[in-house]
Amino acid sequence: MSTEPVAAEVGRDFIRDIIQADLDAGKYKEIVTRFPPEPNGYLHIGHAKSIALNFGIAQEFPGRCHLRFDDTNPVKEEQEYIDSIQADVRWLGFDWGKNLFYASDYFERLYDWAEKLIRDGLAYVDDQTQEEIRLTRGTLTEPGKNSPFRDRSVEENLDLFRRMKAGEFPNGARVLRAKIDMAAGNINLRDPVLYRILHAHHPRTGDKWCIYPSYDYAHGQSDAIEGITHSICTLEFEDHRPLYDWFIEKLPVPSQPHQYEFARLNITYTLLSKRVLTQLVREGHVAGWDDPRMPTMAGMRRRGVPPAALREFVKRIGVAKANSVVDVGMLEFCIREELNRTSQRRMAVLRPLKVVIENYPEGQVEELDAINHPDDPAAGTRKIAFGRELYIERDDFMENPPKKFFRLSPGNEVRLRYAYFVKCTGVIKNDAGEVVELRCTYDPATKGGNAPDGRKVKATMHWLPAAQSVPAEIRIYNQLFANPSPDASNFAADLNPQSLEILADARVEPSVAESNATEPVQFERQGYFVRDKDSTPGKPVFSRTIGLRDTFAKEVAKG
Ligand code: ATP
Ligand code: MG
Repeated sequence: MSTEPVAAEVGRDFIRDIIQADLDAGKYKEIVTRFPPEPNGYLHIGHAKSIALNFGIAQEFPGRCHLRFDDTNPVKEEQEYIDSIQADVRWLGFDWGKNLFYASDYFERLYDWAEKLIRDGLAYVDDQTQEEIRLTRGTLTEPGKNSPFRDRSVEENLDLFRRMKAGEFPNGARVLRAKIDMAAGNINLRDPVLYRILHAHHPRTGDKWCIYPSYDYAHGQSDAIEGITHSICTLEFEDHRPLYDWFIEKLPVPSQPHQYEFARLNITYTLLSKRVLTQLVREGHVAGWDDPRMPTMAGMRRRGVPPAALREFVKRIGVAKANSVVDVGMLEFCIREELNRTSQRRMAVLRPLKVVIENYPEGQVEELDAINHPDDPAAGTRKIAFGRELYIERDDFMENPPKKFFRLSPGNEVRLRYAYFVKCTGVIKNDAGEVVELRCTYDPATKGGNAPDGRKVKATMHWLPAAQSVPAEIRIYNQLFANPSPDASNFAADLNPQSLEILADARVEPSVAESNATEPVQFERQGYFVRDKDSTPGKPVFSRTIGLRDTFAKEVAKG
């Protein structure tokens, strides 16, 4: 395992170049960044990119990174999300120390500053409906129209705004708007809404407030209060920057943060919109936010994806200014690389076929040595029981094999890993003509898997002892979406009907079935698997984190 700090893994990008230049110019002694999730869902791999960027910068340069909950919309926000976000950031390997903040901590100050904007003639209470405001905002080519309430006196605005706060009006009756320019080329500057009425219970401020600030109004001021130097967000906020700067200029804020934008992460076969992810959960397309098919950190954790693989992935994709779509194969590559390095080898038989070794003494059991990691002798060995009755993988036998099939078939000899050479001597079928059991013989001279006479076999197969293995359920996950660029507005049509395959009669080694086995393992020849929380004492459940090879891309190419 690497002992290097995360920071040393990160490359250079335009944001780090800006920060370095700012430090060189003596603009700051300390760099302060923040990761500002809205607690309205679980974090996904796109957030991992933002977390690694913001927290990574704070590790590489003198400075710190805040975790700030952007909790300005109580209707969509829940404590469950606040808790999961903290757990996920920690799991990814980052720490905010004592710098945990909430935008709601600043509601009082934001309110006072809104009154100041009113007194300065820079904000007004608008009685138009949301719809009227939308319709009078204009378009990219046409200016908007001034509200009939735009020229209210300071006194009337202050009175109405205080009464909004006091709860005198119902939801949607009025809003507070900045008074900027309804003809501005940038639509974000056409008198944006600062406050809306929302009689809703807030997870932190309870029923204290019934007006809540907009993202645009709350975000930059929260940055300024916390002394954020570089406020890094995704590209869709680029057009909001003039508004961000407008507030910072007009208000007596304690510091002057700057906003920088980078391209958000998009991945093939994946949707990273919280709206879509919420719907997938609510409509039951998946088993929950931590369903192993979800691109959430909770889902990936449950699936056995190591956090180091995610950090490596976001390092490899880098930070750019132009939007692009990353091939999901790149993520899978990073997961495989990490798991190949770190996970112990075990054997599992996913679709068992019984084998009886006819010349092996009845009742005899011997313990054979199996290697835990081929590249890491320190990982040691373990014992595997070998007896007269075994299971092999159903796919590893063919009664009438084609020419290039080298695994088990009548008369053919193969190696059972760590054990012996065996040869198939007979086939037992059920009434339907299906093979239900094989008869084999073994060569006692080949113990350990090599023949003293030097004869070779073309296949080495995994297997398990019938009596000393444990029944298990194995879940094979495929892409949640069948379409490489799923349609966010009609995602249900693009769902992959084969995203989950359940193998209910699998067998695993006893050691991985124990309840304290939480690390992913490689089931030899099958892929990487992790014990799932759905396991019961009698029946462990394993999720496949990822296969050994990229079969999905090949299947797609074949069509
Ligand atoms: P959505 O658009 O799906 O609702 P969001 O961006 O609104 O997601 P937030 O909780 O506001 O979700 O995001 C917190 C931070 O994570 C923001 O700074 C946001 O820019 C960043 N972020 C969100 N999605 C991505 C992504 N796909 N790639 C990179 N950064 C992202
Ligand atoms: Mg957002």
